[in-house]
Formats: sequence, C-alpha cells, structure tokens
Amino acid sequence: MHEDNAVWSPTEDGVALTPHQDAGDKDVEMTLRPRKLSEFVGQARVREQLELVLHGALGRGDQPDHVLFSGPPGLGKTSLSMIIATELGSSIRVTSGPALERPGDLAAMLSNLAEGDVLFIDEIHRIARPAEEMLYLAMEDYRVDIVVGKGPGATSIPLELAPFTLVGATTRSGALTGPLRDRFGFTAHMEFYTADELELVVRRSAGILGVDLRDDGAIEIAGRSRGTPRIANRLLRRVRDYAEVRADGAVTREIARAALEVYDVDEIGLDRLDRAVLRALIKSFHGGPVGISTLAVAVGEESTTVEEVCEPYLVRAGLLARTPRGRVATAAAWHHLGLTPPQHAPGEPPPGLFDE
Ligand code: ADP
Repeated sequence: MHEDNAVWSPTEDGVALTPHQDAGDKDVEMTLRPRKLSEFVGQARVREQLELVLHGALGRGDQPDHVLFSGPPGLGKTSLSMIIATELGSSIRVTSGPALERPGDLAAMLSNLAEGDVLFIDEIHRIARPAEEMLYLAMEDYRVDIVVGKGPGATSIPLELAPFTLVGATTRSGALTGPLRDRFGFTAHMEFYTADELELVVRRSAGILGVDLRDDGAIEIAGRSRGTPRIANRLLRRVRDYAEVRADGAVTREIARAALEVYDVDEIGLDRLDRAVLRALIKSFHGGPVGISTLAVAVGEESTTVEEVCEPYLVRAGLLARTPRGRVATAAAWHHLGLTPPQHAPGEPPPGLFDE
C-alpha cells in the first residue's frame, strides 16, 4: 500500500472510513439492521443487562427506565434503540439533539407520544439548554411546563405526558451535563467489536444481501473494519463491487485484499485520514505530545472529526496515546508507517538534529 503526504478530504477517491452514516449506507442499513436482541451480534454485557432491564419492567407491568448508550458512531446505538421498542412491543419516535433547538420542538414531540412509546434522541449531548431543562421534568414526572407569553405576564401551563422511555445516544458522554446523565436509569457504554464478532456481522449481512462470501474473505474484511459494524458492512459492499466487476463475484481473501487496496484501506483498517494524522504527529511534531486542534489543522480537518472519528480507533489500536500534555504516537505507530521509533522521549527532537 502506498503512503503519501496528501491531506485527506472526504471528496477524494477511496473509501472514507468515517463511522458516521453516509448517503450510501442509508438505504442498505435499513435492510441490514438487526431487528431483535437475538439478531444483535456482540456487546454481550450490554445485551444481557438490557434484557434484564426490559423484561424486568415488562414482568412488573412498569415503564422501563430511561436508557443512555454512549460510544463511537456505527457501533449499534440506533439499532439497539429500535430493538428496545420491538422488545417492548411499542412504537418509536426518532429525533436528534440538534433538531431540538427550541423547547417547543421538544414539547411537540413529547406531547405526541402514546403510552409506552420509546423516544430516541440521537446525539443527545447536542440538545439546546432550554430543551434539555424541559427534558428533566419530562423524564422524571412525565410532565412538561409550557410557558405561554413573555415577561411578567408569562404563565406556565403544566401538561401531563403519557409514560414513555427515553433512549439517548451520544458519541461524547463527557459532554453530557450531570443532571441529564443522572436521569437515565440505565447507562451502557458500547465497545468496539472484536474481529470474531465483526466476522459474524459480515456473514449475516452477506446472507441478507446475497453475497457469495467465503470464510477467508469474511476474516479479511472483519480484520479491516476498525471494530465497527457500520464499516464492516460498507467494506463488504465495496468488496462485492470489486468481486462482481473484476472477478466471478465470490469474495475470497485475495479479492478482499485487492479491493481494499484500491480503496486505500490498509491491513489494520486505517484509511488515509488516519495515516495522515499519524504521519503529521510523527513528522511534524516528532511524535508529540501535541494538542488535538493543532494536529487537526496539520491534516486540514475539523478537530471534532479527528477527535471523534480517528482518535478512538487509533487509541484502541495502540497507535496513539492521550497524555495530559497532548497526543503522542506510540512506537507501534512509527513501525506501522515503516519508520524507526526514536530513542529519545516523544516530542523532543532526535539527538543530533541540531548538532553542528
Ligand atoms: P450508531 O447508532 O451507533 O451510529 P447504528 O445502530 O446505526 O450505529 O449501526 C450502524 C449499522 O451497523 C446498522 O445499520 C447495522 O447494519 C450495523 N450494526 C450495528 N451493530 C450491529 C450488531 N451488533 N449486529 C449486526 N449489525 C450491526
């Protein structure tokens, strides 16, 4: 695989490994989404805990506690929220933090809920403050206070809500305020998937999409999917294209390798942006430590993209470390780029660089 110094941009060729949903994912994700807890691969602990929460409440005839899922994008938070509704036999309403700008937006959503409904708020850390405050009372007492008028003449009209279960999802649980976090009775952190789990995900998806996926092909795709089912499914679709256009349609290890080479996804699943981040860290900052925003500027990306999309997986892969002084490239990162890690401490110029 060739290395280059080009700044990655989402419009370039290649397959962007952003775990955020892209336009191509949208339709197919509906088909591939697991519908029942039993179809949901991996996350065994979360699944077991959730099963207890849901079935415990169902058995008592209570409304289940509000649920918060946190973790990087593409790990199944939305899928699990839909599964919760299915398991409860109720309907789900879907919205997102950025869509709830005014309390009125939220009040409209809440007052339309029927008894037992699930309300899913994606990116809940981005909800505007006044709407968030309205949510406190709604979550606690199934009630909202609608303020009518302005100034001294303003009155507040209480509105009773049907009991509901709120499911929140966030990629940044640290950005959630304490009062909001405290109102969730069950919080689950989603972990990256193991290669074995991702193999099950791609096999299941291949079955649904009718792809002739061979065992070694499944292993190869799983190993390059950055622990993320959404990426595993996306790579499967790209490899299928290659297999159909350049070969007989069967997805073998050789076909998967050749296809992913074309799409610039390396053997451990890093894409161009990931490699650009590591290269900038090593070449421009002697391996760090460097702040995330400086690093983001160096690769021409938004710092939230670097922080939320690249960093979690680079940390998990042992290529990047977060330290109080900034981000540092590990020895494994140097080796991954075919470089020899320095003997000196990260961040210091190599000995001899400034010698006469
Ligand atoms: P998130 O909300 O965390 O961004 P999604 O629930 O939208 O993630 O998952 C993205 C896609 O990945 C889903 O449409 C589904 O096809 C697939 N997926 C996610 N988790 C699983 C899983 N545990 N088993 C099977 N497929 C999964």
